[in-house]
Amino acid sequence: MDALRRLDPDIYELIRAEERYELDSIRLIPSENYVSQAVLEASGSILTNKYSEGYPGRRYYEGQRYIDSIETLAIERACALFGAQHANVQPYSGSPANLAVYFALLKPGDALMGLALPHGGHLTHGWSASVTGALWRPVQYTVERETHRIDYDAVRELARKERPKIIVTGATAYPRQFDFKVFAEIAREVGAYLLADISHIAGLIVAGVHPDPIPYADVVVTTTHKTLRGPRGAMILCRRELADRIDRAVFPGLQGGPHNHTTAAIAVTLKEAATPEFKRYGEQIVKNARTLADELLAHGFNLVSGGTDNHLILIDLTTKGITGKQAAQALDRAGIVCNYNTVPYDPRKPFNPSGIRIGTPAVTSRGMGEAEMRQVARWIDRVIAHPDDNENSGRIAGEVRELCARFPAPGIPLR
Ligand SMILES: *Cc1c(COP(=O)(O)O)cnc(C)c1O
Repeated sequence: MDALRRLDPDIYELIRAEERYELDSIRLIPSENYVSQAVLEASGSILTNKYSEGYPGRRYYEGQRYIDSIETLAIERACALFGAQHANVQPYSGSPANLAVYFALLKPGDALMGLALPHGGHLTHGWSASVTGALWRPVQYTVERETHRIDYDAVRELARKERPKIIVTGATAYPRQFDFKVFAEIAREVGAYLLADISHIAGLIVAGVHPDPIPYADVVVTTTHKTLRGPRGAMILCRRELADRIDRAVFPGLQGGPHNHTTAAIAVTLKEAATPEFKRYGEQIVKNARTLADELLAHGFNLVSGGTDNHLILIDLTTKGITGKQAAQALDRAGIVCNYNTVPYDPRKPFNPSGIRIGTPAVTSRGMGEAEMRQVARWIDRVIAHPDDNENSGRIAGEVRELCARFPAPGIPLR
């Protein structure tokens, strides 16, 4: 990055500092990852120079000979990897992808049913602070108070009563698997479309360690930058009959020109995700999360739903006498990065809730395994036991750096 260093040393130094931070810390934010050097190269390429409103073979700009081939490769690889009939790879990110699906299939004021944000759902599943909760009539289901799992009978009852036009399944903070078949039966019964938002779990589905929604959902949305380990972006997969409506909703309905450098990086991501190594990666994410959860339970932590089936763990810290924000800040001082999070039926406010959310996609990308997860759990326990002891946190940060030095991070050169 010599040109950048000369032209803009401020930004250069900040990027280098972030690079060192990502290298020297245990990154447990479950929506984050490390992309490969190949994905970085495609995403930092001259394709950012191009305008190409429209779709391959149907553009509003001349000069698309290479761009059309790139987008076509991305689409074909997405369809092949997920077994989908149609793919749109242009959404700028997960939120606009969901918005495009609603714009395609709903009329203003139609009911939109999703998992409530405080129970693990995403803002764009109809939460009141999101435009999706303003343009459409939000109907929100919850998890069960005792088990912290989705109560499918309650979902069915609510759907019968409210008659939503779309039911969204998927979450940002739900440590268990989704039963897409049951969701599809409920949607069919009430005449709703089923949207599976697999943003968090796409990589696990590809690896075969989470059930696959493609046979059941009318539309599937995923971000490309979480467990799928690609650039920041999103894709919409759907049945052939809905392809036209979805495509028109993305462009010209919601967006202008696609981000071609991202499209190319998505194509590279999908090629990587189709390899046996990626399948092993997905399997290891889940093994690591299970081990981390078991070790935390052994240290007396209270886990939402009692554990995990996927890549993430929600810890309710109430019994430890510390809030989520205090815990996340103390962990960051010790080189362990996570986010604070509400837990179901949380009596505290979202800005300083009772829990933290951790996950294993990023550490697994560095090649860490079960032995390292047990070590991470011990560090978390030591930090949470003495959150205000900065000497303790500093000592752990040093141990964390030593461990990180043994596990190179994809896309970040060792210096
Ligand atoms: C991350 C996420 C999104 C939104 O993605 P952005 O790229 O942050 O807009 C949507 N839905 C779910 C379930 C997510 O986890």
